Amino acid sequence: MIDLRSDTVTRPTPAMLAAMSMADTGDDVYAEDPTVNALEDRVAGVLGHEAGLFTVTGSLANMLGVRSWVRPGEELLCEAQAHVVRAELGAHGVWHGVTTRTWSHPRGLLDVEAVRRMLSPQAGPYLVSTAAVSVENTHNFAGGTVQPLNDLRALRQLVQDTGVRLHLDGARLWNAHVATGVDLRTYGELFDTVSVCLSKGLGAPVGSVLVGPRDAIASARQWRKRMGGGWRQAGVLAAAGLYALDHHVERLAEDHANARILAAAIHSVDPHAVDTNMVLVDVAPSGMSAPELAERARADGVLVSAVSRHLVRLTTHLDVTADDCRKAGEVLARLLR
Ligand SMILES: *Cc1c(COP(=O)(O)O)cnc(C)c1O
Repeated sequence: MIDLRSDTVTRPTPAMLAAMSMADTGDDVYAEDPTVNALEDRVAGVLGHEAGLFTVTGSLANMLGVRSWVRPGEELLCEAQAHVVRAELGAHGVWHGVTTRTWSHPRGLLDVEAVRRMLSPQAGPYLVSTAAVSVENTHNFAGGTVQPLNDLRALRQLVQDTGVRLHLDGARLWNAHVATGVDLRTYGELFDTVSVCLSKGLGAPVGSVLVGPRDAIASARQWRKRMGGGWRQAGVLAAAGLYALDHHVERLAEDHANARILAAAIHSVDPHAVDTNMVLVDVAPSGMSAPELAERARADGVLVSAVSRHLVRLTTHLDVTADDCRKAGEVLARLLR
């Protein structure tokens, strides 16, 4: 099977497992796990922030980041296909009373003018007050698109002096960095909190890190425990993250090249529309639905993800080669004909 459903399906490499087995550990609820502490400091440093918090999932990191800025009944603005509103099962509303309003962009991009129109900080006793804006970079359901740096800068300018905070869902910020050459710190410093995943393209088995100001992260640490997410000798997991930061960031360029190979082999997708490690295929012209195509592809040894009625998402990662991508592309091209 060639598994292109997601970059979360990777298995830890032998070298990563060796690093995990040698990790120095302690009790992280007492903040005494040296490997967790090293990971948190390292990620915070790379992103230009004061402190970091290692969490079991990216959803938890997003929840804790957004909660830092949005009080119950206030609103978070984000794009309509953002992970925070589509794929976290309403957690921000369920646990923290966060309401949301969205703008829509066909490529999932930040629309600064739309944000300008929606923004209503301190809206008074009648309207919902905007407390924060979340941006996803790269954008998952739009197919791994990269947010233009100039727009991120314009957003920072827009909220300056309004009290509105910015959260970056940077689950795949590593991919944006490798695709554009823009420094991670340049991205990181434009936001009040940033979440990044270690278990996507970086290939660690578990984990995300939230970074932000020291007091916000101290409070997020309490809320993590309150939500049942405190852990003990988590250094065995943090060691995988540290290993991934050393060995699996620059190689994301291979995943991006493989995604273009895949797109070229499918024919109906323009390889120039591929920003990073994802390829979105519109299956409507074939007369099949996305789930139907996914089922037929599975029978031919290729696993893909149906992300809507007519869109299939293919994701490249550490465990698929250029050759796998060529083969998978040929299978899909044949099925789509
Ligand atoms: C994967 C992902 C997350 C976090 O997902 P978890 O499965 O909770 O780790 C958050 N945001 C985006 C954009 C993602 O792709």
